[in-house]
Amino acid sequence: MGLTIAIVYTFHRMRSPRLDLDYRLVILGSLLPDIIDKPIGYVIFQKYYENGWIYGHTLLFSVVLLILSYSIATKYSVLGFSSLLHLIEDGVVTYMPGTFFWPLLGWNFSKNGEFTSKWIEYTISSLYTDHYIQITEVAGLTVISYLILRHRLYVKSNLIAFIKNGKLIDK
Ligand SMILES: [Zn+2]
Repeated sequence: MGLTIAIVYTFHRMRSPRLDLDYRLVILGSLLPDIIDKPIGYVIFQKYYENGWIYGHTLLFSVVLLILSYSIATKYSVLGFSSLLHLIEDGVVTYMPGTFFWPLLGWNFSKNGEFTSKWIEYTISSLYTDHYIQITEVAGLTVISYLILRHRLYVKSNLIAFIKNGKLIDK
């Protein structure tokens, strides 16, 4: 999430600083694939899917989201864009190309077997062992901390304003 925010923030500042982006949409988009897939694939339909990368982690989902959000307004397309960045950061295309390009390579999603029932344990342990995850998490936290300081979101009134309108204003 932090990395996605950093990429969007950099683009926003450098390319179109006058576009009044709603950063709540960036946060939502960057979490949406997991919000959709983890409960379905790991909890509700665990036996059927055995995977936390299903519909929300397909390129098709992000593209549809991008088109829908863009059709409402250019500034909303950040929702689809952030969701696409999530898939890239997850590395779905490398680890599960069948899911990324679904349904072009077949209708079935691959299964994660034993991982599924223990996904919370695996996710927590990967925080300690996987260097790629460690680096991206630290980078993400650094960016979020920077934005909190830069836009003074530690001041209650600024934070409330951000929650209400999603804008990062310079103070
Ligand atoms: Zn994910």
